Amino acid sequence: MTDKILLLSGDGIGPEIVGATERVIHALGHKYGYSYDLEHSLLGGCAIDADGDSLPQKTLELAKEADAILLGAVGGPRWDKVERAIRPERGLLRLRAELDLYCNLRPAVLFPALVNSSSLKSEIVSGLDLMIIRELTSGIYFGQPRGVEIREDGERYGYNTLTYTETEIERIVRSAFEIASKRSGRLCSVDKANVLEVTELWRDIVTEVSKDYPAISLEHMYVDNAAMQLVRDPKQFDVLVTSNMFGDILSDLAAMLTGSIGMLPSASLDDAAKGLFEPVHGSAPDIAGQNLANPIATILSLSMMLKYSLKEPDLAEKIEQAISTVLDAGLRTADISLADESTVGTDEMTTAIIDAMK
Ligand code: NAD
Repeated sequence: MTDKILLLSGDGIGPEIVGATERVIHALGHKYGYSYDLEHSLLGGCAIDADGDSLPQKTLELAKEADAILLGAVGGPRWDKVERAIRPERGLLRLRAELDLYCNLRPAVLFPALVNSSSLKSEIVSGLDLMIIRELTSGIYFGQPRGVEIREDGERYGYNTLTYTETEIERIVRSAFEIASKRSGRLCSVDKANVLEVTELWRDIVTEVSKDYPAISLEHMYVDNAAMQLVRDPKQFDVLVTSNMFGDILSDLAAMLTGSIGMLPSASLDDAAKGLFEPVHGSAPDIAGQNLANPIATILSLSMMLKYSLKEPDLAEKIEQAISTVLDAGLRTADISLADESTVGTDEMTTAIIDAMK
C-alpha cells in the first residue's frame, strides 16, 4: 500500500527542516522499499503571501485526502501585523479543528548522549522517556463565553470558560489508556478536582473508563503536584493525560527536561489515528535560511507518523536508531552542543542520519 503524505513546510526554518525530513522519506524508499506518495502545499505566512489566507482551501482538501501530514512551523515577524483572523497561527488552529485532531502526544525522551544538556542533574533525567497526552480541541482555550468587557462602573474585566463534555473527556482518556497499554502499563491523570468542578467530572470519567483497562495501574494527581513531581523525580511517570491548558504547560516543562527544543516531536491525532506531525518548536526566524536549524525534532515527528498513523513501527525504529547513532558519535547542531563542542549544520546532520540508517 502507498501512504499519502502531505508536506507543509510553513515559514522560517520550515522549508529547511521539512526538506531534510523529505530526504529521510526518500531514503526509507531507497533502503527499505517504503512506498509513499508526497504532496506539498502552503500553510501559514507563506500561504497568506500566495493566497491571502493562512489555510487555503486547497491545503485543507489535500489534508483531508492525506493519510498523514508533516508540518514544519508557521509564523514570523513579517506577518505579526496581519489581521488576527488570518494570522499564520490561526491557519494551524483551524487545520487542527477541521480535522478534529483532539489527541496531542508530546513525548519527552532524553537521548543518552545529551544527558549533560538538561538543566537537571544527570541521575534525575538519565533514561527519561515519558509521554504527555493533552486534549487539544476543547477546554478553556475554546470555551464560550469569553471576552474582555467594561462594567457599568467603568472597570474592565476579562473572562474565559472551562468546559468539557463527557464525550470529549472519554475519547482522550481512552486514547491514553490505549497508549499506556502499549508502554509500561502506568497512567497518571492530572486534574484539579479539589477546586474545579469540570475536572471533578474528568476524574469520574477516568475512573469509569479505567474499569475497561484492569491491567493498567492508574493514578490521579493534582496539577500543582504534577508540576512539582516532574521536576523532582520525572522518571516516576510513564504516560500522563490531561486537559488542554494543563497539558500545554506541563508538556513544555517536561520538554525542557530533555535539553533542547530542537529535539522534540509531537503528534495530533483524530479518532482514526490520522494525524498532523510537527516539531514542538516554532519557525525560528532568527536562524532561518542559514543551515543552522536542528532537523531532529522534525525527523522524529516523521518517526511518530510512521508509528501512530502509518503503522510502520519498524521504519520508525530505524530512524530513531540512526539518530542515536549519530548523537553517540558526537555530531551536534549548535542548539545541542556544549561550549567546547564543534557543530554541524542542518544538511550535514541529515546526511549523517541517512547514512546511519541500516
Ligand atoms: P521558536 O521555537 O521559533 O524559537 C525559540 C528559540 O529556539 C530561537 O532562538 C530559535 O532559534 C531556537 N530554535 C527553535 N527551533 C530550533 C531548531 N530546530 N534548531 C535550532 N534552534 C531552534 O519560538 P519563537 O521565537 O517564540 O517563535 C518564532 C515564531 O514561530 C513566531 O512567529 C511564533 O508564533 C511561531 N511559532 C509557531 C509554532 C508552530 O508552528 N507550531 C510554535 C511556536 C511558535
